[in-house]
Amino acid sequence: MSETAGEAKPEVKQASKEVKESENVAEKYSAMTVSKNSDINMGELASVFSAVPTHKPVKKQIQFVEEKQEFSRFPTKTGRRSLSRSISQSSTDSYSSAASYTDSSDDETSPRDKTQINSKGSSDFCVKNIKQAEFGRREIEIAEQDMSALISLRKRAQSEKPLAGAKVVGCTHITAQTAVLIETLVALGAQCRWTACNIYSTQNEVAAALAEKGVAVFAWKGESEDDFWWCIDRCVNTEGWQPNMILDDGGDLTHWVYKKYPNVFKKIRGIVEESVTGVHRLYQLSKAGKLCVPAMNVNDSVTKQKFDNLYCCRESILDGLKRTTDVMFGGKQVVVCGYGEVGKGCSAALKALGAVVYVTEIDPICALQACMDGFRVVKLNEVIRLVDVIITCTGNKNVVTRDQLDRMKNGCIVCNMGHSNTEIDVASLRTPELTWERVRSQVDHVIWPDGKRVILLAEGRLLNLSCSTVPTFVLSITATTQALALIELYNAPEGRYKQDVYLLPKKMDEYVASLHLATFDAHLTELTDEQAKYLGLNKNGPFKPNYYRY
Ligand code: NAD
Repeated sequence: MSETAGEAKPEVKQASKEVKESENVAEKYSAMTVSKNSDINMGELASVFSAVPTHKPVKKQIQFVEEKQEFSRFPTKTGRRSLSRSISQSSTDSYSSAASYTDSSDDETSPRDKTQINSKGSSDFCVKNIKQAEFGRREIEIAEQDMSALISLRKRAQSEKPLAGAKVVGCTHITAQTAVLIETLVALGAQCRWTACNIYSTQNEVAAALAEKGVAVFAWKGESEDDFWWCIDRCVNTEGWQPNMILDDGGDLTHWVYKKYPNVFKKIRGIVEESVTGVHRLYQLSKAGKLCVPAMNVNDSVTKQKFDNLYCCRESILDGLKRTTDVMFGGKQVVVCGYGEVGKGCSAALKALGAVVYVTEIDPICALQACMDGFRVVKLNEVIRLVDVIITCTGNKNVVTRDQLDRMKNGCIVCNMGHSNTEIDVASLRTPELTWERVRSQVDHVIWPDGKRVILLAEGRLLNLSCSTVPTFVLSITATTQALALIELYNAPEGRYKQDVYLLPKKMDEYVASLHLATFDAHLTELTDEQAKYLGLNKNGPFKPNYYRY
């Protein structure tokens, strides 16, 4: 699969006609903002939720050469391991709990080689161990407690079943939090078949709980590449069931359907995509005139980008570092490469615990922000010999080179929070003169001939994704946005959306945010008529223009 990092995303453009349309629907929508505590009518919601296309629609359909795909029929454990799939090619910009709380390491049998049935007699799933379902159920219940906005959406819409008839095929991390999303979709009337977007992030017990509940889930922690595509295929290629919606995280599922089952797109009403990587792929398809259904870009919603990327990383960076290294942050010298949303979150967290934080940037605006936030902006080479921790957050490649790894001091911790595993040149460390010592799960000491050790975390893959859990609440925000995007695309009258990539309208972002305010007992100030007139705003929003940057 092509690596998409680093390529420019098409600029978000809004034709004036489209903006006007969106404004009109916003008027209708304003009658049911949460701040007024009125119940949301999902049919009404769908009819007013008109998203903004990011560029001109295209007509051509993608034509993939039909390749023959054979899954290994009798794969050995070694065979499967050797196919180990690079995490960089799946969605790596969204979150998952890497922690599976049940230890199934003693059971080496591949789930593909087992026959399992749930208590209702169904075997339409493939998970590590269905017997872990009860434990997974408890995990889901714990997650529900911190996802009250999503649960409230579930309750409000349950009687209307806005997803009745929807057949959603999903590919996301399979964790307690995504399970709450999946079960919300089911409660709203959808039938779901689900697979994992990442070979390491599945919580086995959660997958078991979903399978026990009747969701056709195909996922387990530690899949091989062959397993990964096999699971996706089992979700799509099933007799008597054809999906009409796609919920993707990373674009692998969408890619698979395009490649293997292009006819399925005749029935697909839309794609909802949450990750930077997946969205990038959609833009590429669209640019090439090959996108044949409407797609919602959830990643660039304010409620995703400004929350997931910033706040999630602000909290999970510390968790990931602590669990793997037991490091004390106070007084440590840390360099954070990249001062975008993720870099801002990491820098703030480390500074708060007393670390001395340096920042590297290529962009003068972000560099200036870092300066104003009190960080020293430096070139990596200036501090490479003195820092104790290096964290990459750029989404770029070769930000930390072998030459720089050679010059780091003994005991330096090196890790990545950005997209994929391209930021640290890990491949350059696999040379005969260096010794690798696995000291803990996801922690390697790379030892130089003179005895110097560099502590490499998660082999340069996303630290929080690989080594820690992520805050449930922030995932509720993304999941609520995803659920609404699905509802909208599924219920939209023909012609509302064309074969294009759409951003959620500001109004929906505001709606998702307001649903989550209740958790904090936050009380919004209402504009007076006079103030609304003065600012030229509708009293019920949207409160900011689309170009507002927050
Ligand atoms: P962003 O674009 O806001 O920030 C990236 C920053 O890196 C930019 O300011 C850019 O100028 C800078 N940069 C690029 N190349 C650089 C270089 N060579 N040296 C120094 N700075 C450089 O993006 P973001 O939202 O902060 O996301 C960053 C990456 O993290 C992306 O790849 C994203 O997919 C990933 N991400 C990870 C998580 C996670 O949980 N770990 C969450 C969200 C996003």
